[in-house]
Amino acid sequence: MELIFATHNQHKSKEIKKMTESIVSVVDLEDIGFHTDIPENGDTLKANAFEKAAFVFNQTGKAVFADDTGLEVDALMGRPGVHSARYAGEPKSDKANLEKLLREMEDKEDRKARFRTVICYMINDEVLFFEGIVNGTIIREKRGKEGFGYDPVFVPDGYDKTFAEIDLDIKNKISHRGRAFQEFVAYLRSK
Ligand code: IMP
Repeated sequence: MELIFATHNQHKSKEIKKMTESIVSVVDLEDIGFHTDIPENGDTLKANAFEKAAFVFNQTGKAVFADDTGLEVDALMGRPGVHSARYAGEPKSDKANLEKLLREMEDKEDRKARFRTVICYMINDEVLFFEGIVNGTIIREKRGKEGFGYDPVFVPDGYDKTFAEIDLDIKNKISHRGRAFQEFVAYLRSK
């Protein structure tokens, strides 16, 4: 069985291929030569995951899944949330997003935050959703070279390293996306 992961993001694709290698073959959009940008106009993570999966499903007719992730910071009333990818505006930039977040958090004592991932899986006439969350804190300056996005400032609860300092195997076990994918993989195994 082959599943298309509706993403151009090679960091995410690497994480997921590693988690699913013993169960299904996962190909991403680069692997199948699908170079079109995927629309992301929803107001929620669920709506965005659905929109991304539906876009690729409608063009390929093949089983596809898509994920959407948001970083929800308590002191910012849940921002950047669904706007995490373009928090600092266009063009989308992880570096600019991270700098904006650190600036906004400069005077904040409450550093609690969470990553949330929603996965949408589309196959034939079925649509399923899976969710994963990891709680943690936003530190005051970047640490670590691994990972991507907001990883250098996010320390998951129970650890003293950021996601950018933690080994990918550990990140995959405890992260938002890891947890959402564990649910998804458990579902695939049960089929
Ligand atoms: P996406 O919509 O899932 O592609 O991600 C939304 C935003 O969250 C992007 O800015 C990503 O860089 C960021 N993001 C997604 N997953 C992670 C992660 O595992 N660590 C850090 N940032 C992430």
